[in-house]
Amino acid sequence: MNCHEIRSMADAYVDRELKGLEHGRVENHVRQCPACQQWVRMVQRTRDTVRTKLDRGRAPDRLTERIRATLNDAPRGTFETKG
Ligand SMILES: [Zn+2]
Repeated sequence: MNCHEIRSMADAYVDRELKGLEHGRVENHVRQCPACQQWVRMVQRTRDTVRTKLDRGRAPDRLTERIRATLNDAPRGTFETKG
């Protein structure tokens, strides 16, 4: 695993969403790579900030709304089969 892979997985690693094997791999790399250690710490700090904001209950619901709108706009019968 290289630093680029670690950084692309850092989000999931911090959120503990990785499977045991992958989590171990990232952990091993981070333990011996100061640059990635810093990266993970940075991601962690960002997460904490977001969580703090969420706790305050002022999280904008715009993304959820946009997703809902996209789903409503999706054409019906896309998966309809003939017969
Ligand atoms: Zn690294």
